[in-house]
Amino acid sequence: MFERKSGVTTFKCFIDGAWVSSETGSYFETEDPFLGTVWAKIPKCDERDVDKAVMAARCALEGGEWADMHPSMRGQLMRRLADLITRDVDHLAVTEVQDNGKLIAEMRAQVGYIPQWLHYFGGLADKVEGAVLPIDKPDMFTYTRHEPVGVVAAVTPWNSPLLLTMWKLAPALAAGCTLVLKPSEFTSASTLELMKLVKEAGFPKGVINVVTGFGQDVGYALTTHPEVDKIAFTGGEGSGRLIAKSAADSFKRLTLELGGKSAQLIFPDANVDNAVKGVVSGIFAATGQTCIAGSRVLVHKSIHDEFLEKFIALAKTARMGDPMSLETQVGPVTTRPQFEKILGCIESARKEGAECVLGGGASTRVECGSGWFVEPTVFDKVNNDMTIAQQEVFGPVLSVIEFTDDEEAYHLANDTNYGLAAGVWTRDTKRMFTAAKKVRAGNIWTNSYRTVSYMAPFGGFKSSGVGRESGQDAIWDYLETKSVWIDYGEEQANPFILR
Ligand code: NAD
Repeated sequence: MFERKSGVTTFKCFIDGAWVSSETGSYFETEDPFLGTVWAKIPKCDERDVDKAVMAARCALEGGEWADMHPSMRGQLMRRLADLITRDVDHLAVTEVQDNGKLIAEMRAQVGYIPQWLHYFGGLADKVEGAVLPIDKPDMFTYTRHEPVGVVAAVTPWNSPLLLTMWKLAPALAAGCTLVLKPSEFTSASTLELMKLVKEAGFPKGVINVVTGFGQDVGYALTTHPEVDKIAFTGGEGSGRLIAKSAADSFKRLTLELGGKSAQLIFPDANVDNAVKGVVSGIFAATGQTCIAGSRVLVHKSIHDEFLEKFIALAKTARMGDPMSLETQVGPVTTRPQFEKILGCIESARKEGAECVLGGGASTRVECGSGWFVEPTVFDKVNNDMTIAQQEVFGPVLSVIEFTDDEEAYHLANDTNYGLAAGVWTRDTKRMFTAAKKVRAGNIWTNSYRTVSYMAPFGGFKSSGVGRESGQDAIWDYLETKSVWIDYGEEQANPFILR
């Protein structure tokens, strides 16, 4: 069992290399999802703090140590930060768990893996090369140079705060950008803890700043600030849409990682035991609070009964309880509003005629204490038109839908506004490749689920987002390209004609 921090910790925000109170001088509280009690006080920033942070980032971008720093040195700083995170994995993981209620086992693994993004993109920092173009004009030397896109506003949700911050921070730093981070109002503590390491690593002031507060004021002020050049957002579809609309006013560069309603396709030739484990990992791990939750199982009717029986048997063994225990497998829901939303989704599924075959409400298990727990829930006989099959629940609620042939399975998989991920369970090689082609989603896992890497681009089709994070190409979202033309001819050409 890992120890929670006792008492109530008061945090400060991090602007221009200094720990500062917010301009309002006030705080909001953040609760431990397992105990349901306040454990930290977070500065309630407003547009004045946002302005200070953005201007600090602008200053660091345009002159001084960071602006003049050789990319190799930027990479070195990033690797130093990586090493400090590795040193402090347990502390950061406990902070995440106390704030968002995810399992300590998962958060230790996740925080332990985060440094890889800094190593990978740190290594890329000095490999951003322009090109000399074999240009088709006489006496002209033409080359490209790639420059940082500018000040980045990085806005993150509550489910994996540090991981999703790192997906933005690492490529942005490698590109030479500066950032203002805005973590979720529910889980700001770990991002602020990370700043201690940013300071220790020796990043110049203003390169990375953190403002804390609510989406509609601090998030809005940040993403509409005229000195912000790019927004990197992870969160819900509704907020993503608002941000995209306001970004259009000043044509800010934008990447959006949004929600999902991902399907797990289980074909008749699948190894059902493996599929059962894969579906459990997709919907009950992290209490279903992941954008890639495999919340719709599409199962061939010939194996429906076998799958469901084995699935329920395994799901029933899930150990719920304190997320600080290494033994726990399903923890609490992160926030009270989310807890209520999940219960509402369960109710509406019942009303629409889905058959609840497991769970179906708040947990009353003793080991769940006073936390916000929802029982692992399974609805059978779901029709893909039902709300439960179309709306993102972001909780441990699975819908089971039958299909009769492959084409129907692909149709059902794609019959949603989202397109973030899919799981494909088959032993047939042809099906593996066909499904990878036919399913419209940014991440296709075959005989596996819920795997991510710093090397693999991550993102969604349709309402699941715009752009990709991770993988080498992610750095291009943080760069602008210039074409530079140098005419070394003696005479100017006819000025009235495009050359
Ligand atoms: P949310 O959209 O409510 O909040 C996300 C962040 O945006 C928070 O920091 C919030 O304060 C801020 N915000 C909210 N409204 C804003 C506005 N108008 N302007 C600027 N900022 C604003 O999302 P959430 O409830 O924190 O997270 C859950 C959602 O995130 C789910 O839909 C989930 O699928 C999605 N998510 C997606 C990914 C992915 O990579 N695709 C990963 C994790 C979570």
